[in-house]
Amino acid sequence: MYRPRIKWEHRPVRIGARLVRIGGTVPKIAANVTDPDGWVWALLGALDGMRTVDQIITELVHRFPGRSAADVLEDLGALVRAGYVENAAEPPPAGLTIREQERYSRSRALWQWMDRTPRQSSWDTQLLLRQARVTVVGVGGAGSTAALSLAMSGVGTLHLVEPDRVDLSNLNRQILYTEQDIGEPKLDVALRRLRAHNSDITVTGEALTITGPSALAALAAGCDVLVLTADSPAQIRSWTNESCLRTGTNWVHSGYHGPQINLGLYRPGGGPCYDCAYVAARERESGLPTTTWPPTGPADELAASSAVSAGIAGHLVAHAAMSLITGAPRLPANREYGLNLVTLDDSVVLGLTKPRADCPACATK
Ligand SMILES: [Zn+2]
Repeated sequence: MYRPRIKWEHRPVRIGARLVRIGGTVPKIAANVTDPDGWVWALLGALDGMRTVDQIITELVHRFPGRSAADVLEDLGALVRAGYVENAAEPPPAGLTIREQERYSRSRALWQWMDRTPRQSSWDTQLLLRQARVTVVGVGGAGSTAALSLAMSGVGTLHLVEPDRVDLSNLNRQILYTEQDIGEPKLDVALRRLRAHNSDITVTGEALTITGPSALAALAAGCDVLVLTADSPAQIRSWTNESCLRTGTNWVHSGYHGPQINLGLYRPGGGPCYDCAYVAARERESGLPTTTWPPTGPADELAASSAVSAGIAGHLVAHAAMSLITGAPRLPANREYGLNLVTLDDSVVLGLTKPRADCPACATK
């Protein structure tokens, strides 16, 4: 039995006598609706999960003689398509245990809040995560946080790729490792920690060193989303881009350039690829009359990073991966994002709208 109810997270408020705001107060979720005769407010009031659609129609047509059943259905349909309505009489989720429902109860509330896609069940987003296979390449700074975030969120199958051992200099940011782990293979420690955090999911891994695109293509072929959080070798993002274009695998990457957090998410075939953005960025710089400062950098130059920069990069890339899996929220893909920790301004770094004709990866696909 379908008993439509406005999601609690989207509960409406009446502003004055002629305006209703639904969806809460968060921009891009909330919407204002003019309501000169109180019809919208009455409809929203009837969507409390206690009534069937027939009962709602009977009640509203009685209260508003100028309106018809078709009017009720049309406006109810608009609210459903906008993602504001759930079914108060939905059956329990068949694919999740009672323990999982308790574990993810807060996640479910946030998914409900962010999600503007009509769903059969309020648990559909969690079920999509449960069924997903995600591979994390690089379990260092951003990768530690990303893997932990994905495991805690209930991604059903996680595969980690990390060849290094834990070093003291990792401990300012790599959240999975402690002083007791120094000298241990990161992979062993990460698997232990993630399984301890969530024994309801499957976590596997391999201590593979990436030396070319073929290894990445094999990894991409075995997952729904590939998370790239390794930053070496230097070509690894282009290799991942090329591999995922070939296998059709959605992929995300994140990292940092000092205080700037970088994030990219890509659906192959859905628009520009990573190399399109890279070619465009190089073109912008090559047009400027620049002179490089003469001294050469130190041979052992260190990547500037902290628990904050690595943690934000890791959580953002996990959020992006889950967006690709669930569509909640449906983040615009095939572009690069940046977040500047010095200003906290978020911005799209490069929002190309279509692939570049001179992109080497798109041209050879
Ligand atoms: Zn391209």
